[in-house]
Amino acid sequence: MLMKYPVCKRRRLATTLSAALAVLCLLQPAAAYSASGGAGTVQASSPNAAKPPAASMDNRATARPKVAIIVDDFGNNMRGSEDMFKLPVPITVAVMPFLPTSEQDARRAHELGFDVLVHLPMEPRQGKPEWLGPGAVLTQMSDAEVRERVEAALDNVPYAVGINNHMGSKVTGDERVMSVILAVCKERGLFFVDSHTNYRSIAGATARKFGLPPVENHIFLDDVHNSGHVLKQMRLVKDHAFEQHYCITIGHVGIQGKETAAGIRSGIAELKDSIEFVGISELVKSQWHWESQLTPP
Ligand SMILES: [Zn+2]
Repeated sequence: MLMKYPVCKRRRLATTLSAALAVLCLLQPAAAYSASGGAGTVQASSPNAAKPPAASMDNRATARPKVAIIVDDFGNNMRGSEDMFKLPVPITVAVMPFLPTSEQDARRAHELGFDVLVHLPMEPRQGKPEWLGPGAVLTQMSDAEVRERVEAALDNVPYAVGINNHMGSKVTGDERVMSVILAVCKERGLFFVDSHTNYRSIAGATARKFGLPPVENHIFLDDVHNSGHVLKQMRLVKDHAFEQHYCITIGHVGIQGKETAAGIRSGIAELKDSIEFVGISELVKSQWHWESQLTPP
């Protein structure tokens, strides 16, 4: 979901007020979270918004906006995996558990300095059960069964700094099941990235209750499967990043994985001077002052 902020739009006008407004824009994500209004509410001018120290204001005003590219569906030797590993900036590799190359892909990503997420299969409202893959979390499961599945998935994928959802439109709307998943995240020092397959997701709000950052995908790169579309989406990522000072975006390996990788590569070449591409853990640390703690492999 692409949020629009009135204050940020004004920044584009480059008036004499632009410097002051720009500082407000750049501060907005962290201020919004500190004030518990979340990234989806306008908080920059709120008297209740938390004020970071002056030093961090300087850093944020001069830094390039950060973008984290998450690539989903690793773990089954999917098409495009090699192209993604060869991209010239850090990406975040989301690995499905219990598949032939799950462990290998996670280790490769880690060796390259890329962050790893467990790409946890979660029940959708619609869609074929066979698309879910092994070890899926379903809403009909008991709390104990959900916990068992989440822990098993985390144990199967080394170096994970967090979890994001594969499918999951039904589970991310279910507070009971999300609470179990987030409790495990909390215990292990991990965060949850809502892939945002459900506009009514309660994942972010529930994460806040657990004291976890409400991290969510903003833009899918490859809902249309060609590199030209992916490049266009990368330009939207840039716009979003300039408005909110950061952006999280998701692409996929798979049947069209090579085309997606080519589009991402073109986008990186075009944006690299104005955008800082980072792993998801660095982005979460910078936006929410929250650090993941790696579980031992
Ligand atoms: Zn997926």
